[in-house]
Amino acid sequence: TRADITYFGAGPAALPTDVLETAAQALLDYNGTGLGIAEHSHRSELATNIINEAKADLANYLDIPAADYDVIFMQAGGTGEFAASVYNLVGAWVARQHAEVLKEPWDGANEDAVVAALRHRIQRDLKLDYIVTGGWSLKAYQEAVRLLGPEYVNLAADARTNNDGKFGKIPDPSTWKLSKDAALVYYCDNETVDGVEFPEFPSVLAPREDGSGPIVVADMSSNILSRRVPVSNYSLLFFGAQKNLGCTGVTVAVLKKSFLPPTTTQPSPALLRKLGLPIPPIMLQYETIAKNNSLYNTLSIFDVYIAGLVLKKLLKTFPDKVDGQQAVAEKKASIIYAALEAYPDVYHIVPDKSVRSRMNICFRVTKNGNVDETEKAFLKEATSLGLTGLKGHRSVGGIRASNYNSIPLEGAEKLARFIDAFAKA
Ligand code: PMP
Repeated sequence: TRADITYFGAGPAALPTDVLETAAQALLDYNGTGLGIAEHSHRSELATNIINEAKADLANYLDIPAADYDVIFMQAGGTGEFAASVYNLVGAWVARQHAEVLKEPWDGANEDAVVAALRHRIQRDLKLDYIVTGGWSLKAYQEAVRLLGPEYVNLAADARTNNDGKFGKIPDPSTWKLSKDAALVYYCDNETVDGVEFPEFPSVLAPREDGSGPIVVADMSSNILSRRVPVSNYSLLFFGAQKNLGCTGVTVAVLKKSFLPPTTTQPSPALLRKLGLPIPPIMLQYETIAKNNSLYNTLSIFDVYIAGLVLKKLLKTFPDKVDGQQAVAEKKASIIYAALEAYPDVYHIVPDKSVRSRMNICFRVTKNGNVDETEKAFLKEATSLGLTGLKGHRSVGGIRASNYNSIPLEGAEKLARFIDAFAKA
């Protein structure tokens, strides 16, 4: 039964049982309305309330400065955000260039000249920087190349270089080849497949004292809500719900308001066409979704509702909000890593110690030399004890214990005891 297992899957993750019990009832009959939450109109007042409360609770829990940031619910997953970040921030870059070109006195009114000037600037200056530290930032980089073409996308750092072609380290930021005034600098805060997490915000990307600085985008799909985030350092951060926030189906983007109207307005499709730049699908255009409070089209209110319940539970459990959850996450991760470190002949922790993820603990079971067989035995025994979902990602193999927020301390302790017992046996 549910009570017998601790599920360490990488996502979707387990949800708190009391949240699911409340949601199960709401699916049948939401608040005595006779209609389930998935049946109510997304245009109803109750749907709007669910959206607004989830936004406010998220902002409260993470201390998102509400005056400067908008929270929007999107629907195309983390993968959709790989594309959305490109479209919207290239659009914002073009809008800035456009404003500058129009300021030039010579022939701002001549449309063809404006287009020619913009084309020139695009060819000369448009760059998107990617810091690739694992499978997901690699996918984001590849999506940017696919949408724009390689000439505009700069692989500013690749963690596989000087590391046997493998992920597991974060190249020293002093070696990152950052472009001047890039349309964005992208990184993935926690690499779910490779178990690599940025220990802290990379200081080379920090804003300068006057507030200017690189336009930083981060994928926080697999570690959001588990530690404090210096939100003001980012222009955009995004995350799918299905690890620490809720269930699959809704993706959150936290966007600096200066990238939205009235400060920034996306270029028209006609202009983008003339410039040879891709036109974003309307579903991926932040200004459209933000203007409609995430209800441009039919949003799954059920998914937002679940996220809202999770946030309320977090706020109730931790009076000091994300700091409280951060302390628990660190404790759980250190218990599991300590159990592994106690047997260096049996377990090999995959990433470098300096970048070990608190959320996705990746290791190999090297005892006996026959890694495949030993790992099979490890997984089989673990499953028989109710420790499930431990198989590593198909692209890298090995074992991965995903230590998301819904894993209780006792679950982490139980896994640590098993790691110990398996090594001794
Ligand atoms: N980024 C990260 C860090 C992820 O872990 C994942 C999925 N596991 C994604 C992006 C892709 O998310 P989705 O499957 O929602 O598109």
